[in-house]
Amino acid sequence: MTTLHQEARSAWRELGFTPSRARGQNFLVHRRVIDTIIQLLDLDEDDGILEVGPGLGFVTRCLVGESRNVWAVEVDPLLVRWLRDGPLGSRAGFHLVHQDVLTTDFDRLLPEHRVKVVANLPYSVAAPALLRLFEAGHRFSVLVVMLQKEVARRLAAEPGTAAYGVLSLWCRLYGKVTRKVAVSPEAFTPRPRVDSTLLRIELHPEPLVPAGEIPRLRSVVRAGFARRRKMLGNALAGLFDSRAGEIFDRAAVDPRRRAETLELEEFARLARAFGEAGGDGNA
Ligand code: SAM
Repeated sequence: MTTLHQEARSAWRELGFTPSRARGQNFLVHRRVIDTIIQLLDLDEDDGILEVGPGLGFVTRCLVGESRNVWAVEVDPLLVRWLRDGPLGSRAGFHLVHQDVLTTDFDRLLPEHRVKVVANLPYSVAAPALLRLFEAGHRFSVLVVMLQKEVARRLAAEPGTAAYGVLSLWCRLYGKVTRKVAVSPEAFTPRPRVDSTLLRIELHPEPLVPAGEIPRLRSVVRAGFARRRKMLGNALAGLFDSRAGEIFDRAAVDPRRRAETLELEEFARLARAFGEAGGDGNA
């Protein structure tokens, strides 16, 4: 039986393709890990799926067997050609788009009901791609994402830990990490130099903070973590200026604390108090 590793090599030869490190082209060739992805998705027949970066289509082949509609967004023109000309290309319910996920208009691409997302995200785009997926969270119910271990750790981090920061708070704002699975470099070809983690993130029906308050929350969180070793009173002095005392009092947050100790709810109180004191979200 041909292994996925052999299949990948022969596809590259046929295409004249060299995997790009900048595009994070480490292809998953371990069948058990692909099975784990399918299991983490926990699919119903009616679930639509968005796959980010289908690559050579090894995961995609399983997805189209499990779901009636799969939308796949791939940035690499050679891989798009490979998928379009291969057996997947003519498969009913497979919708391939040649786009960058950082600029894809999900509202135009996807149906009204929420779909599940599968993404094996390269390090270079992982954080911005996740933020886009979170912000379009009304379109998605579950994300099953393969990430560099350190990025996964930041997403799932608890307050009071070194990994806790903007990504952790944004993940909590939009969803909840419900499963983590470690994946070793041997599962990919070419082998990456880093370990990976698969996360299942269940998205909330609505973000935990009202949409209108999110720009201000973003300003407060960014300013807080830009100087994470400082006390919040100092880290947020520039943003809050003369209103600082009033804002910390109203939010019932001690300005001697540091950003990395605050729960999402406490940041949300600071952002609300900042708004009530006339602060805007574009600072
Ligand atoms: N899903 C395949 C797998 O698991 O074997 C390929 C994963 S590979 C780590 C990442 C894939 O994402 C590649 O096919 C790459 O070309 C694609 N990609 C990288 N940046 C992208 C972007 N900004 N938008 C869409 N696809 C992207």
